[in-house]
Amino acid sequence: MRIAIFKESQDDRVALVPEIVKRLEQEKNEVLVEEGAGEAAYHPDWQYQEVNGRIESRDIIFKEGELFVTLHPLENGDWKKFSKGAVIVSLFEPYAHPEIVEKLAQYAVTVFSMDIIPRVTIAQTMDVLSSMQSTAGYLAVIEAARHLPRYFPMITSAAGTIPPAKVLILGAGVAGLQAVATAKRLGGVVEVFDTRAAVKEQVESLGAKFVEVEGALDDVKAKGYAVEQTEEYKKRQVAKIHEKAIASDVIITTAQLRGKPAPLLLTKDMVNEMKLGSVIIDLAASTGGNCELTENGKVVKKYGVIIIGNSNLAADMPMHASQLFSRNVYNFLKLLVKEGELNLDWENEIIKSSCLVHQGKVMYNQA
Ligand code: NAD
Repeated sequence: MRIAIFKESQDDRVALVPEIVKRLEQEKNEVLVEEGAGEAAYHPDWQYQEVNGRIESRDIIFKEGELFVTLHPLENGDWKKFSKGAVIVSLFEPYAHPEIVEKLAQYAVTVFSMDIIPRVTIAQTMDVLSSMQSTAGYLAVIEAARHLPRYFPMITSAAGTIPPAKVLILGAGVAGLQAVATAKRLGGVVEVFDTRAAVKEQVESLGAKFVEVEGALDDVKAKGYAVEQTEEYKKRQVAKIHEKAIASDVIITTAQLRGKPAPLLLTKDMVNEMKLGSVIIDLAASTGGNCELTENGKVVKKYGVIIIGNSNLAADMPMHASQLFSRNVYNFLKLLVKEGELNLDWENEIIKSSCLVHQGKVMYNQA
């Protein structure tokens, strides 16, 4: 199988690092790498050549590749360049952009979206969302510490004592829990809020305090994802978050609703009452943000509070993020490719549920 990767546009990560290219080559595949694909992730072309990767131009990659892996879906104009029968693996977010499936079906290709692989134990090694969210959660705290004009840990010095930073984390999914662990390591005092009561134990086991708001809806049909809450609950939640927010030095927000706009958790008025120099990192910025004043992709200062809207933080640590991503991809490719040949077992739940289009036929079932 000729597996191919491109140089990602506007992202320093690369879909396959040399470590994984080596493994794929040992398993009867050939890997085609666009010139400079790994450069920004500190994997120059020679590292790929050392493990028998073939460095090629973009045009040759389109012509000769059979299975393509990308972090971001390619631009529309590129789709006609794929040969009939090509297999494409990427992250298409079809739950947020359902129209993309019909568009992809216009081409005689087979498309898999790794962001809809079911989040079951057996698929954990392929879970790119978790790998990237975990990296983002870690970086959110580092980014907050870098912008905070105050210390994170408690400092005792001859000039007196400085209290530790108070950190509030809204949303304790994968990113939120990694942020809790990182903020604790830096010496912050951490409180966490999430509508899913199931995370209370996980939060407490990391040494943080769980902020309780009674009456949250948990829906088993949502497969672990959060669901929209009642108006009554939302009012209680707003009051509680208000109280906690104005006492915080750092707030990291990660709350998402799959396929819907992110819930608004921090209003303009709350930000106005926060301490000057406090920092908000909004990881939900790309779906509208959890803070009313967030501007996606920007660092802004409002009412003396620094607000950073960034849902693509994992790209700021391209080396390890690429390594984790590649390992997830490798585990997924092991299902699709056997002995260097494409071998799609449609009885396999992971293959079936992550396929958007097979040879031009829509396979995605939104339900
Ligand atoms: P996510 O990115 O969808 O959301 C982040 C967090 O925000 C979630 O914890 C969610 O409950 C919370 N949230 C949503 N609305 C909120 C609100 N109004 N106020 C406060 N918090 C709110 O979450 P995720 O990190 O992708 O995780 C989603 C689920 O998938 C979790 O149950 C997680 O444990 C599960 N998961 C399972 C596996 C696996 O078994 N393979 C792997 C990863 C994640």
